[in-house]
Amino acid sequence: MKPEAPVALQQVPAPPDALGRALGDLRISVIDRCNFRCPYCMPEEAYPADHAFLRARDRLDFDEIARIARVFVSLGVKKLRLTGGEPLLRRDLPLLVARLAGIDGVEDIALTTNGALLPKLAQPLRDAGLQRVTVSMDSADPEVFRRMTGGRGELAEVEAAINAAERAGFTPLKINCVVMRGVNDDGVPGLVERFRGTGHVVRFIEYMDVGTVNGWRGDRVVPGAELVQRIDSRWPLEALPRNATSTARRWRFRDGAGEVGFINSVTEPFCGGCTRARLSADGKLYTCLFAHAGHDLRALLRAGESDEALRATIAGIWSHRGDRYSERRAELRAAGVLEHVEMYRIGG
Ligand code: SAM
Ligand code: SF4
Ligand code: SF4
Repeated sequence: MKPEAPVALQQVPAPPDALGRALGDLRISVIDRCNFRCPYCMPEEAYPADHAFLRARDRLDFDEIARIARVFVSLGVKKLRLTGGEPLLRRDLPLLVARLAGIDGVEDIALTTNGALLPKLAQPLRDAGLQRVTVSMDSADPEVFRRMTGGRGELAEVEAAINAAERAGFTPLKINCVVMRGVNDDGVPGLVERFRGTGHVVRFIEYMDVGTVNGWRGDRVVPGAELVQRIDSRWPLEALPRNATSTARRWRFRDGAGEVGFINSVTEPFCGGCTRARLSADGKLYTCLFAHAGHDLRALLRAGESDEALRATIAGIWSHRGDRYSERRAELRAAGVLEHVEMYRIGG
């Protein structure tokens, strides 16, 4: 394995972007494949079994990911999140976690997963230095759950994943649920009930127009405010102050049974506080979830660029960043700006 720090890098934060936002966190997609076919992300019709995903040699290897992460950390990134596709499909993921955990300045390493492979991997990931886990679970009803995974997932697997994550010490977990009107929104109370009192925090995510093939329609979005009302009528809620670094609106149950979160990216965009950069599995840097193109860092690495040159390139890209798609959604959609990178390529 190559050493993590062949030459000491300058540790100077990237200049703020064109809208004054600092670079704070990096989401790393480690693979574009997935064992599920959630209709809002990778609908089966668009991604049949013979779909051409990235070949192994097209993906960044662990040396390359660790190198890029180290450069980002030298530019002020403190939080890393591993995602995909389904990140647990990437072979030897704990080895990558250990590499990332060894980078000076990394304060938080998290993972977003559908959980299917977590029972085997929770403990090795914990031992490697992973700090937090978010498990996606769109329903507590086995039938609806199966439908929300494109017929590929079983609720029992995610329940096993949650147990394994608890045993490995990842408590409290975050549980992500994408809500689609008329598809799984009836199941919101069921999910709330499942996790009230467990310490885990369910976060309801508004269905977004990511990518180009999920057939997004505005009328399928259930505003978070509507869900707050629905939940509050059964289990009274009280607003909590917003966490500086989180995109979720937080509410606590008045009876002390924990909290729920709402990621209202469509109805209450939070671009003004967006400090995230995203790296795809093939090494492209995206400055927004809705970008249509990324900056090819893999080409720079494989052409032998030095870390300092990479650092300057990334700082330059960040300083020109003016993305605020969610705030301009209506205007941009009306103007026909519909080309976005697919969610499974950059991982949310
Ligand atoms: N496969 C992993 C998983 O599902 O947790 C990680 C990658 S997935 C792309 C990351 C998150 O994005 C998941 O919580 C998923 O529910 C969310 N997501 C995917 N498509 C979405 C959409 N159209 N709108 C809102 N959230 C979405
Ligand atoms: Fe796979 Fe996650 Fe996308 Fe579902 S949301 S298809 S689990 S990458
Ligand atoms: Fe950040 Fe783009 Fe989402 Fe706005 S739309 S919050 S800039 S990723």
